Amino acid sequence: MPSVFHDARERLKSLGKLSGISATVIESLSRPRSTLCSSLPVLMDDGSTQYFDAYRCQYSSHLGPCKGGIRFHPNVSQDEVQALALWMTIKCAVVDLPFGGGKGGVNVDPKTLSRMELERLSRSYMRAMADFIGPDKDIPAPDVYTNARIMGWMRDEFEVIKRHKQPAVITGKPVNLGGSLGREEATGRGAFLVTEFLRSKEGKAPEDIRVAVQGFGNAGYNVAKLLFDAGYKIIAISDSKGAICDAAGLDVDKVKSFKDKDRSFDSDYCKSSVCESETHKSISHEELLALDVELLVPAALENAITIKNVNNIKAKWITEVANGPISAAADEILHARGTVIIPDVLANSGGVIVSYFEWVQNKAGYPWSLDEVRTRLQAVLKMSFDEMWQYQHQSENTSLRTAAYAKALSKLEQVIKMRGTKEYFANTEN
Ligand code: GLU
Repeated sequence: MPSVFHDARERLKSLGKLSGISATVIESLSRPRSTLCSSLPVLMDDGSTQYFDAYRCQYSSHLGPCKGGIRFHPNVSQDEVQALALWMTIKCAVVDLPFGGGKGGVNVDPKTLSRMELERLSRSYMRAMADFIGPDKDIPAPDVYTNARIMGWMRDEFEVIKRHKQPAVITGKPVNLGGSLGREEATGRGAFLVTEFLRSKEGKAPEDIRVAVQGFGNAGYNVAKLLFDAGYKIIAISDSKGAICDAAGLDVDKVKSFKDKDRSFDSDYCKSSVCESETHKSISHEELLALDVELLVPAALENAITIKNVNNIKAKWITEVANGPISAAADEILHARGTVIIPDVLANSGGVIVSYFEWVQNKAGYPWSLDEVRTRLQAVLKMSFDEMWQYQHQSENTSLRTAAYAKALSKLEQVIKMRGTKEYFANTEN
């Protein structure tokens, strides 16, 4: 298994060098501050106890408390969690949030659990992590295969342990348990907004943009729906079980209702697939990625595009809704070929931006309207996108990813330097 963290760290080093960041600073950002590993005991419905490997990585707290989601997935490992936590560090800095980076996960296939087992697993995770995290230390949130209901259970468990209310310990909660309006759609909405900013810079009409969306979870669905409503032509959609394609365009709401067919309440995982939308042609995951489209939206897991399939990619633009969907080597090839990539650290930052809004609302005890959340989200993303765009257009042969890393790393460099470096203590630098 190739190391995702190794790849993430190599990218950090090369982009750091390219942006002129000091080697001491890159060195200090090349390792997580701490990672807690735990075996979670979970009482199963048949009376047996099963153990699940769980992690929480606090990568960097240079800019504020650590922040990042918890994923429940069979691929979760310490290596993956650390890579995701490094990306959260960059992401929070790119969009100017007063947060560092963290990430958590449990190695489990949650689709095999009953609802009660899922609840016990979520509470067991919080029991293991309760002394490690906290509203001013490290604030988790949803990620792949976790949702608002799970965040609600975790908040509740934390408060049972601590014996007082602490809504700001976790974000992405149900609205009636201290969640923010607009958090559920936020990752998809953010990705939609940055794609719109790119479209307007490039002067194209939505109808002329054919889109393939890989992944139809919360973020994939919301971005597909917003693009569809804005007039983009969604010609392919996939989920973990397969993909469908229609050159005439798919109706995103109809595809969603096929997928939700057997789902009776919203914390449950879909039992159906987009493939059951039988009127459309089924294609493979690889065929979806290789479609001749203007926009490709990878919204599933890491490494969807690697050196193995990069030469099949025909899309002109890619909006990275997943974290790390393009390996560092594939990224260089796409960049050299002129593919415009809106990098994950900007494209999917809508989720953590609204998580920040939720944290602020919890701390203030004063909830905002949906309108206010959306307006502020748009403002944060517009400012960050314009900054990346300007940086990219002022420097030669630069990508939006390099621009994003340059901004994030220089923010981190400033705070790390403020604490004193070798040069400072040797009196060779002010
Ligand atoms: N899991 C999301 C991400 O990867 C959201 C993190 C958060 O809201 O803290 O950005």
